[in-house]
Amino acid sequence: CGIFGCVGVVDAANFIALGLHALQHRGQEAGGIVTHDTETGFNQARRMGLVRDNFTSQKVMETLPGAIGIGHVRYSTAGSKGQTAIRDVQPFFGEFSMGGAAIAHNGNITNAVQLRRELIERGSIFQSSSDSECIIHLMARSMGRTIPDRMEEALRKVEGAFSIVAMTRSKLIGCRDPLGVRPLVLGKVGDGFVLASETCALDIIGAELVREIEPGEMVVISADKGVQSHFPFRPQKPRFCVFEHVYFSRPDSILGGRSVYETREAIGRELAKEAPVDADLVCPVPDSGTPAAIGFSLESGIPYAMGIIRNQYMGRTFIEPTESIRNMGVRLKLNVNRALIKGKRVILVDDSVVRGTTSIKIREMILDAGAKEVHFRIASPPTAWPCFYGVDTPNREKLLAANMSEDEMCAHLGVDSLRFISLDGLYRAVGESGGRNKAQPQYCDACFSGEYPVEPADMIDAGFQM
Ligand code: SF4
Ligand code: MG
Repeated sequence: CGIFGCVGVVDAANFIALGLHALQHRGQEAGGIVTHDTETGFNQARRMGLVRDNFTSQKVMETLPGAIGIGHVRYSTAGSKGQTAIRDVQPFFGEFSMGGAAIAHNGNITNAVQLRRELIERGSIFQSSSDSECIIHLMARSMGRTIPDRMEEALRKVEGAFSIVAMTRSKLIGCRDPLGVRPLVLGKVGDGFVLASETCALDIIGAELVREIEPGEMVVISADKGVQSHFPFRPQKPRFCVFEHVYFSRPDSILGGRSVYETREAIGRELAKEAPVDADLVCPVPDSGTPAAIGFSLESGIPYAMGIIRNQYMGRTFIEPTESIRNMGVRLKLNVNRALIKGKRVILVDDSVVRGTTSIKIREMILDAGAKEVHFRIASPPTAWPCFYGVDTPNREKLLAANMSEDEMCAHLGVDSLRFISLDGLYRAVGESGGRNKAQPQYCDACFSGEYPVEPADMIDAGFQM
């Protein structure tokens, strides 16, 4: 998901809509905005679909006045089953004795099922099926005297991954879980402040990046007092999601002081060193494979070409929520540049192989177009484990790499060769020159390594074996 908030600006909702639009790659199913204005109180709008289709009309935007607000773009992950219902669309809102508060969450709470059961037993009435709603109910039960105090207490009971943007009438609140699994940055625009999942959402409104919110940090921001920071959790060694670098974040964002684009190009270079192959062309699977393909081409000296053209008007395949739509998606979205491919030995670079559906369709299309050889090079290690921290991966039965060796995958995909970047190669590309520290990995890489930095309690209860 993508989250955004701002305080101390004119017409917060306009900035929020723009910020969410820039974060649309993080979730396309639904979006919501909450603002506060002294005359109207809290104002809320939640809609299914894209930001540009919902939060551009004057009719909607004029219902969202105020100088403070937050927003969320949603895609459903591990915990949430099936299609999004409007009641699952964030931000969530709660009334407390000291006033209202709204909260938007990116990540996944790994003990949400347990918490929900306990909360329901003690009388909480849940409105949605979302794991994030637990936070509101935990806040309602807290005896804390201020909303930030209550949020702090609630979040100490929550396990897993959370980057959060929340608001009261006058305060914007930001928080990251102690491992800092999901991103969150602080920006400044005029006299106002901004919180956003990624720096690309600051750029779109002309805000300046101040810094990242630290893992385990909570910031409380108001127009008059500025940014107040504290660290409510037991300190832990950070484990940022390495897959944000590979795929999830936008290439024009800055993560941990590094350009995502440059990291992806470096991944491509590493791949070319680790798994060279003689060929005529390096083609990306657009758009997610593009920077890595450029890196592969630069390192190998094999010409880069746009052998596959993407229809700009389709969304990301994997974010489409059902399997049948996902299966159709690839052909609706990608087409081979036949004239270029015919008779050529082609290296295809993609970010990841999950179910393998994309790769099979692309191999078919490329061979139909007359390619002589097809070599897959993948910018992440084999995805053999599901993510429980906010990225939508299927369960192990559907993960190709959980069920097949690399040779078997190569045969299954029907390509001349298939190679994945090594975990160490990936760590080098994200700037860890010594590679992965096996005793204390610098990132979360559970979907590749099976080493989960936070025990996924609910999944273990449900029978998941680590
Ligand atoms: Fe990121 Fe993978 Fe960890 Fe999920 S399991 S947070 S996708 S590295
Ligand atoms: Mg892709």
